[in-house]
Amino acid sequence: MSTNDRCLFCRIASGDIPARKAYEDDEIYAFHDINPQAPTHILIIPRKHIPSLDDMEGADVQLVGTVVARAAQIAHDLQLTADGYRLVANTGAAAGQTVFHIHFHLLGGRNFGWPPG
Ligand code: 5GP
Ligand code: ZN
Repeated sequence: MSTNDRCLFCRIASGDIPARKAYEDDEIYAFHDINPQAPTHILIIPRKHIPSLDDMEGADVQLVGTVVARAAQIAHDLQLTADGYRLVANTGAAAGQTVFHIHFHLLGGRNFGWPPG
C-alpha cells in the first residue's frame, strides 16, 4: 500500500500530514481538531487503522480501551475534569462519522446539551 492509499488519520499519525499534536506514544496519537466544536477539541486515535468501533477484532478491544483511558488522562492533564467533558465516537455515517479510522472526540471548555444533535 503506498502512502497515498493510507487514510487521513493514518497519515496524520505518521506525520505525513501536519497536525497540532496533543499526545503520542507507540500505540496512540492525539491532535487538535481542525474545525473545533469547543474550546478544547482533541481527537484521540489508535495508530492502528481500525475503521470504526464496529470493526474491532481480538486485541483491538484492549487497544481501544487504552485509547479511552488516555483520553481521560488528557482531559485530566488539561484540567477539564472538574467542570466535565464529553468523549464521543461517532460510528457510521448516520451518526456523523466522516473519517473511517477510530477516533474519540474529547470536547471540553463549555457546557453541552443533551440530547446531542
Ligand atoms: P467524525 O465526523 O468522523 O466523527 O470526525 C472527524 C473529525 O476530523 C472532524 O471533527 C473534522 O473536523 C476532523 N478533521 C478532518 N480533517 C482533518 C484534518 O486534516 N486535520 C485535523 N486536525 N482534523 C481533521
Ligand atoms: Zn487509518
